[in-house]
Amino acid sequence: MLNRLRLLLLSTPVGALGSGAGGGVELTLANCGRELQRRGHQVQVCAPSGSRLPGLEVVAIEGTPHVPAQTQARLTPITMPPHSVLANMWAWAQREQANYDLLLNFAYDWLPLYLTPFFRTPVAHLVSMASLNEAMDRAIATLARYHPIALAFHSHAQAATFGKLPPYTCLSNAIDLERYQFGDRPSAQLAWVGRIAPEKALEDAIQAAQQANLPLKICGKLQDHTYWQQLQAAYPDADFDYLGFLPTDKLQQVLSNSLALLVTPRWVEAFGNVAIEALACGVPVVAYRRGGPAEIVRDGETGFLVEPDSVAGLVAAIGQLERLDRNACRRQAEQEFSLTALGDRLETWLTAVIRQP
Ligand code: UDP
Repeated sequence: MLNRLRLLLLSTPVGALGSGAGGGVELTLANCGRELQRRGHQVQVCAPSGSRLPGLEVVAIEGTPHVPAQTQARLTPITMPPHSVLANMWAWAQREQANYDLLLNFAYDWLPLYLTPFFRTPVAHLVSMASLNEAMDRAIATLARYHPIALAFHSHAQAATFGKLPPYTCLSNAIDLERYQFGDRPSAQLAWVGRIAPEKALEDAIQAAQQANLPLKICGKLQDHTYWQQLQAAYPDADFDYLGFLPTDKLQQVLSNSLALLVTPRWVEAFGNVAIEALACGVPVVAYRRGGPAEIVRDGETGFLVEPDSVAGLVAAIGQLERLDRNACRRQAEQEFSLTALGDRLETWLTAVIRQP
């Protein structure tokens, strides 16, 4: 059994925790931190100033946020803003490293990967997105060569985008199931949840809902304003409402009250937290058969997996929703995506990293 570990969790540099800019990483970091702390480990979080993370001790670091990797081209060179918050966070970690048994990195960025061998305290990396950038791919390949134990992914589909890797840890993901209420009397509406940005292909969900004659409720961080304006102009007659970037208790109410969640990413989604949040509410997930969601949804039981980029496929699946039992969705979330299950996997992984620094 593990001793009490002293852990420093280093956040993403794309924005403050609580802002939504970090996408699923924000919830993942909060859940990992809270579960490790609940198990008796000492947990501190190093994050950009302005971060809100109730229940965990945050070391706030000043600096300029980074541009998200998914908004840049594959061959974009590594760039850092002047007064980079990421560089400042890792400089702080370098000075304080002797106070920790392990540093756990949540940033999808070249810098922490590059810095890993220069630290005396072991560094572990939870990679949050699929392959997007050549420099990141090379940094991951290098680490995979000399220290593969230090890398973990959320899904096998995500890991596969980085090419052939030695055996790696697949952590999947989890949520605090108690925060999500089972809803067995949904309204006649569909939900779409996520960052509003082109890689999420919200237009497919809007078209599918329109063709299925159902209103679409949209929740999430409005990340790309131009894209959102284009969508509003392109579908003037579609029945969709933007409800804002909601806190979890409000988000789960919208989900519980929906017939299904549509998950329509154009990219390889590393995992798709929103899919397990829906399942926890007893809400079937209609998703493209691609990336993380394809490893989450039990096709024909807790949702439907549809040919990628096929709006007609989404519409056909929406027409079959009555076949599904919402209890099976909640049951799957309880069986596979509890914080206890994630905590066990995390402890196994982090112990292995500490034992083979
Ligand atoms: N989310 C939220 N409020 C909203 C919409 C989304 O808190 O109104 C959170 C949601 O809980 C999830 C994250 O945004 O954790 C989206 O993560 P996901 O893994 O689905 O996609 P990513 O943004 O990481 O690509």
